[in-house]
Amino acid sequence: MSTVGVDAEMIEIEVLKCQKCELVEPIPSHCGKPMQIVGDSFVCWKGEHTPCCGKPSVLPVPVHHNKQMVIRRAMAKLMKNGTVFITEVLD
Ligand SMILES: [Zn+2]
Ligand SMILES: [Zn+2]
Repeated sequence: MSTVGVDAEMIEIEVLKCQKCELVEPIPSHCGKPMQIVGDSFVCWKGEHTPCCGKPSVLPVPVHHNKQMVIRRAMAKLMKNGTVFITEVLD
């Protein structure tokens, strides 16, 4: 177990990052899991299907600085209430 403290634990997650600047966004999830990038779209891990969680199962990947954002690993603090704070993006 982590020794960061009783309120938070450090976890490694995947985030969406701009290829030019430090903009970081969470990866959208569908059917309870992170969506996967296929071409220039996010697709539900179950594949394209009729919306069942109230959101479309295919979304465009965000573009920043005229480039498609990419998936990077990051360290984050997971708070007891479920909130995640990204502390460092890894290469
Ligand atoms: Zn950017
Ligand atoms: Zn889904």
